[in-house]
Order: sequence, then structure tokens, then C-alpha cells
Amino acid sequence: MTDGAVSESSTAADRARRFVREMVEPLAEKIDREQHFPGQLVTALGEQGWLGAALPARWGGGGLDPVDFGPVLEEFGWGCASARTLLTVHNMAAQAVLRYGNEEQKRRHLPGLASGRSIIAFALTEPDVGSDANAIGTSAVEDAGGYVLSGEKIWCSFGCIANLFLVFASCNGKPLALILERDSPGLKIERMTDVFGTRGSELARLHLDAVRVPTENRIGAPNAGIRFVANTALDHGRFSVACGTVGIIRACLDTCTAYAARRQQGGVPISQHQLVRRILTDGLVAYTTARALCDRAARLRAAGDPRAAAETALAKYHSAEAAIRVANDAVALLGANGCSSEFPVSRYLRDATVSGIIEGTREIHQISLASYALQKPWTNA
Ligand SMILES: Cc1cc2nc3c(=O)[nH]c(=O)nc-3n(C[C@H](O)[C@H](O)[C@H](O)COP(=O)(O)OP(=O)(O)OC[C@H]3O[C@@H](n4cnc5c(N)ncnc54)[C@H](O)[C@@H]3O)c2cc1C
Repeated sequence: MTDGAVSESSTAADRARRFVREMVEPLAEKIDREQHFPGQLVTALGEQGWLGAALPARWGGGGLDPVDFGPVLEEFGWGCASARTLLTVHNMAAQAVLRYGNEEQKRRHLPGLASGRSIIAFALTEPDVGSDANAIGTSAVEDAGGYVLSGEKIWCSFGCIANLFLVFASCNGKPLALILERDSPGLKIERMTDVFGTRGSELARLHLDAVRVPTENRIGAPNAGIRFVANTALDHGRFSVACGTVGIIRACLDTCTAYAARRQQGGVPISQHQLVRRILTDGLVAYTTARALCDRAARLRAAGDPRAAAETALAKYHSAEAAIRVANDAVALLGANGCSSEFPVSRYLRDATVSGIIEGTREIHQISLASYALQKPWTNA
């Protein structure tokens, strides 16, 4: 990470807080309204080391471990969920390349990804394939020295600006992960607009019409696409969304506490009305518990603990559900102003709602976390 932003003695979270307050949060409303993420901000995120913050120093990254990276993601989530989304998808795909790429693939891609010169998007979802990723319909047909891809990907965050895509396809029933380059003949990228939340995340639909991808672009073994490569990426994505969503809860609390202290009704600040106080208390509890779950997941991830993936899913599920409740309460606390674009809380509610869908929906987590509960993890806390 460059030292441009803050002195060496400050933590990564301090540096992120300063960067987000100066460079990101002031643009958040415009990014949401215009549904566009500014190119200069992508450049600044790369130059200041945020896009490669969690990649190893060996490849030019910042080398942050999860304990330090989590609070960085919280700062970005506080300021702008679309910016946090860029960090999420770029890092989750890069981490999959780091884990399953061969030396040549790492040499070729990781330095560019760490510096932000290269942006990678994650292309798994299809019009008819969402939660059940094993059912991918995009086909990969083996051809001399490579694969020919045909199909369609949808909801690809930052697909409009990425130059690389970690794309998943089925080859004779075996799920493959491949790195697809933007200028590949047969690839058409179509912008998605008028999305409910994270509206600045440059969402794209990818049309793959007999796109040739060389065998050397395959990441991992021929049948490792979903079970290993996608699941590794999604695990990193869940951690990122969990921590970023804690930032949304904190942003709601910032707005609500200031508004409740200032707004007078019945001759007193509304912060003195009992039911408004209930909203502030619930928000504080939500922030504290979601933050604690993210910290616990971060520590387990840093230690390589086998419970890390399940605890990360727990943190993501809890943070997203808590953020939706808190943001919904925030809109109520601001009354009519909660429905005005002059205040950020309706954006927080829309962005929090997205966090409950991506990287595993609420219902998928409700089902999968029960398996973890049956292991009685509290007996081994
Ligand atoms: C803003 C945004 C950004 C996104 N970015 C990306 C991206 O960068 N890359 C990418 O690949 N995808 C991305 N997605 C897609 C996202 O990952 C999917 O929306 C998500 O996986 C859910 O899939 P689906 O929307 O097809 O819903 P479905 O899987 O069709 O689910 C519909 C409903 O059925 C429920 N359901 C499904 N299966 C079960 C089950 N077994 N048991 C119980 N209930 C079930 C779900 O919980 C949900 O309520 C993005 C989505 C959004 C909204």
C-alpha cells in the first residue's frame, strides 16, 4: 500500500477512513443517482492500494490479513456500498486466482490486479441460474487448445469496466472456471440499469457467442469450477459483504443520532421520545453484535481455523439482516425526510437489501447455517 494517504503509524482502518471521507463518501449520492462509478475513483482506489489491499506483498498487494482488512471494508461500506462492491468482487476473484492459479497465471495477473491496473469481475449468475450454481447453463466445448463458450451471464458487478472476468461454464457436465479477457471476439457486454441498490456498481449482462478461451486461462482442475474456485471466491465475498454491511449500520446510526438530537416534535428533540430511543438502542445493539461477529470471523480466518467459513457465513447473514432492519428503522426515524434523496437513509436501505441477496440469499443461509448449528459450535467457542 502506498503511504500517500496517511503516515506509517496509522492503521489501515485509519487510512481507509480518511480516504473514504475525502474521496468516496462525498460522491456516494451522485454515484447512486447517476448509476455510474467514476473512472477517476477507480484509478485512485488502485493508486492508494485499496484494490490490492488483501493480496500478498509478493504480488504487489498490501498484505492485509482479515483482522486488518475487515475494518477497511467497514469504512468503505460506511461511505459508499458501490465502492465496497468494487473492493468485494475484485478481491474475491483475485483471491481465487491466488489460491487456484498456477505460477504462470499468478505472474500474469496478480501484479496488475494488486495495483488496480487490471480490474476483474465475477461472472457466475445466469438468467436461469442463481442460488443453485451447480446448474450453470453456459457451455464450454473443448476445441484445439482451448474452450468455446456460449451462454449468458447476468448481474456481473463492475462488468461494464472490468478487463478480466472470472467466468464459470460447464464442459460435459464438469464446472470450469476460466479467465476471460474483455476484448475476446464474441463477448458482448450490455449495461444493466435501474437496479434497486448498489446502483453505481456498473452491472453488466455478458453475452457469450462462441467465445474462444485458451486452456491456459483455466483456473484449477477441469471439474473444480464451483466446488473450489467459485466457493473460495464467494467465501471472500461473504466476509467483504459482512464487514461492509456493518459500515451501513454505522452510517444509519450516524444519521439517526444527529437527526434525533436536532429534530424537535412536541417541544422536545425526538431523541427524548421513547419509541425513537428504541430505534437508537436497537441500532447500537445491531452494530455491536454485527461488528463482533465480523471480528470473530476475521480472527478465525487469520488463524486458518476450520470454522472460519461457517463463522463468515454467520457474520454475513446476521450483518445483512441487521442492516436491513436498522436502515428500515432509519427511514422511519427521519419521517418524510427518510423518503427524500436529500438524506442518505433510503440509499442505505436499498444497499442493505442487496447485501441480503448477494453471496448467498437469506434463505440459503437460513438453511446452510442450521448444519453448522447441528455441530454445536458453542461447545468449542
Ligand atoms: C446488485 C447485485 C449484484 C450482483 N453481483 C453479482 C456478481 O458480481 N456476480 C454474480 O455472479 N452474481 C451477482 N449477483 C447475483 C446474485 O449472486 C444472485 O442474485 C443470488 O445468488 C441469488 O440468485 P437469484 O437472484 O437467481 O435468486 P434465486 O436463486 O432464483 O432465488 C429466488 C428465491 O428463492 C430462494 N431460494 C432459492 N433456492 C432455494 C433453496 N434451495 N431453498 C430455499 N430457498 C431458495 C432464494 O432465497 C430467493 O428468495 C448480483 C445480484 C445483485 C442484486
